[in-house]
Amino acid sequence: MKLLEQRIRSQGIVKPGGVLKVDAFLNHQMDVALFDEMGAEWKRLFAGVPINKILTIEASGIGIACVAAQHFGVPVVFAKKAKSVNIDGEVWATKIESFTHKRVYDVIVSKKYLGPQDHVLIIDDFLANGCALEGLLRIVRAAGAVVEGVGIAVEKGFQRGGELIRAQGVRVESLAIVEHMDAQTGEIEFRHAGQESVLEASVHA
Ligand code: 5GP
Repeated sequence: MKLLEQRIRSQGIVKPGGVLKVDAFLNHQMDVALFDEMGAEWKRLFAGVPINKILTIEASGIGIACVAAQHFGVPVVFAKKAKSVNIDGEVWATKIESFTHKRVYDVIVSKKYLGPQDHVLIIDDFLANGCALEGLLRIVRAAGAVVEGVGIAVEKGFQRGGELIRAQGVRVESLAIVEHMDAQTGEIEFRHAGQESVLEASVHA
């Protein structure tokens, strides 16, 4: 999605350690008009798919998911990061390792809001190693719900998450895929349709 790539190029900051800061429009200050365009794009990509619920994870997925949900006309459920999990049978629970904070969270979703009747679109801001997404997939599967697809704002194509999740047959639509970024020069390269990923290219080399 050109609009998102342009914003990443103009306002994204490449940090050492493979971290892209997009606080100016996505993770701190939020450009709701941009979110609206992103929601419209996911709706176009998932046209005709029977989605009745959007699932995301707190905190940074919530804003994007809510704006996207306006296009789908469905509710948003967000997985909560819990300090301690009281496994009382009321919640679906799993553990997720955070890429940015380097720690493990317990994550829960109430059984009241996710069950076998649900056809779920998972939305999140970033896809890196795929831990957050794997956790959300575990929760959806535990609930007996159907994963109809995944919408990601920014996928870091030089990390393994996208490849791992797609290999499971899950449809992942990332609106921008960063193939390469350089913390010293600030340079960012994107992957486009039909282009081999850097990870595939390294296997074929
Ligand atoms: P994963 O679990 O795929 O390794 O990482 C996904 C989560 O980590 C996302 O929900 C996002 O919050 C955070 N994350 C991973 N990489 C980045 C990054 O480069 N920049 C930002 N802002 N967040 C990231």
